[in-house]
Amino acid sequence: MTSVPLYKMFIDGKWVGADSGETFEVINPANERPIARVPKGGKSDVKKAIDAARNAFDKGEWPHMTPAERTAVLWRLADLVEKDAPNIARLESMDVGKTIKYARDSDLPFIVDNLRFFAGAARAMEGKAAYEYADFHAKREHKGMGLSFIRREPIGVVGAIVPWNYPLYIAVWKIAPALAAGNTMVIKPATHTPLTTLRFAELCEKAGVPKGVLNVVTGPGELVGAELASSHKVDMIAMTGDTSTGRKIMEYASSNVKNVHLELGGKAPMVVLQDADVDAAAEGAVVGAFWNTGQDCTAVTRVYVHEKLYDKFTKLVVEKAKKFRIGDPLSPSTDMGPLISERQRERVEDYIASGIKQGAKLVYGGKRPAHMKKGFYIEPTIFTNAPQHSKICQEEIFGPVLTINKFKTVDEAVASANDVMYGLASSVWGSDIRACLEVAKRLDFGTVWINEHGVLVSEMPHGGFKQSGFGKDLSMYSFEAYTRLKHVYVDMTGRARKPWHYVVYGEQ
Ligand code: NAD
Repeated sequence: MTSVPLYKMFIDGKWVGADSGETFEVINPANERPIARVPKGGKSDVKKAIDAARNAFDKGEWPHMTPAERTAVLWRLADLVEKDAPNIARLESMDVGKTIKYARDSDLPFIVDNLRFFAGAARAMEGKAAYEYADFHAKREHKGMGLSFIRREPIGVVGAIVPWNYPLYIAVWKIAPALAAGNTMVIKPATHTPLTTLRFAELCEKAGVPKGVLNVVTGPGELVGAELASSHKVDMIAMTGDTSTGRKIMEYASSNVKNVHLELGGKAPMVVLQDADVDAAAEGAVVGAFWNTGQDCTAVTRVYVHEKLYDKFTKLVVEKAKKFRIGDPLSPSTDMGPLISERQRERVEDYIASGIKQGAKLVYGGKRPAHMKKGFYIEPTIFTNAPQHSKICQEEIFGPVLTINKFKTVDEAVASANDVMYGLASSVWGSDIRACLEVAKRLDFGTVWINEHGVLVSEMPHGGFKQSGFGKDLSMYSFEAYTRLKHVYVDMTGRARKPWHYVVYGEQ
């Protein structure tokens, strides 16, 4: 066995191994070498973590702290993450194979911003104004019958299950609003990528997050994730991952009708209208398709470009794709790292083969880059003329594979763009803003960018329609999703017999 650091899980404020004593290797996908061993959590470990979170919620101080107190802890946490950002970025790069510049300059600053946004959100809860809404003849007396107001409360124990493409980034999308609202949590990182979430738990401890409030259990999804989603002691499950996993989570969650929040797959289209700036659109396409080696739920996967721009656009996209520097993700000049695993690479290669078989034309890439002898690398890959019904046009590949098809009419483009089971993200490119807005209205996706693709901000919601899931990450909508609403009604009449009792018995 190679000597690599042995990590522990974080349960009830303690660093522990799995009950079984088992561990598994975490591999650097860029060189296929192990970088760590982590505990292979099982059912009993998840149960302990859930009990710790339950106890911290039912008997602990966290849900009862003032918003200002929770804000202070989260703000301290954001500062600690910011200070440790270079190390976390390096760890993320080695764990996922994402380029260091992407981890350092995109993932980490957004994580810090997100923590600060939700630290502030804790103090900005909103609801209906308290008022005397109930009437029932009480108006005659010039006063309301009762006063109604809303309490926005934490839901309880939140289970979070996250994917491997943005391990800490997506974990924080769930941890920040859930903790800000006063919930306690058990989080399961993706099997391949637990390291930065474990480092984050250390920083939570330092920042003063009380014991049991955040627990991290590492291990396989079918075991750890399934137990978390099925448990009767968990009140909400928030999951980001594949649509097929989301379906299973819904089934498990039905055991105690727990609250479900799902951010699932995507198959983002890009519609390039006749009057688009073709260079800007081509730049947007390669950046949007190949960032994070295409392992992004919002990545551009299908371009529908007006027939007049088609040849120029395709030529530009291929030229730009050729400029991607594939190599060691830790090198600052690398633009594209490997895929997460051999399994993922085989999956992507199967899709490429199916594209060719189903009649699409491979115009660039499609192979393993010859200069990378180790690691799960694949070239940026571009198809044209992919039949709309083909697998590469319909299914989420989760790799750097782009299709470019031409259209004649806007109706045709919108129909093709919407013709998938997913509804996460999309973009439209053009000079006439009214025409772009009209297309934005018709695109059946949770996000539509105009003359841009991929920008997310903490203030705006991110989440899908159709089989891309429901519930929003980011923004106050996400914060709300981690709270429950309670209507509190106070009688204002002070009478034993209220104005409305006659409808049940007696006279008015
Ligand atoms: P995945 O569904 O395989 O795994 C996601 C998480 O679920 C992992 O932690 C995994 O261990 C766990 N899991 C797997 N099987 C489980 C089960 N039976 N019960 C409980 N948990 C289980 O997804 P992935 O391959 O890690 O990530 C890629 C997917 O995530 C893609 O489909 C991508 O589109 C999606 N994604 C969506 C968003 C979004 O915001 N909508 C963001 C990023 C990724």
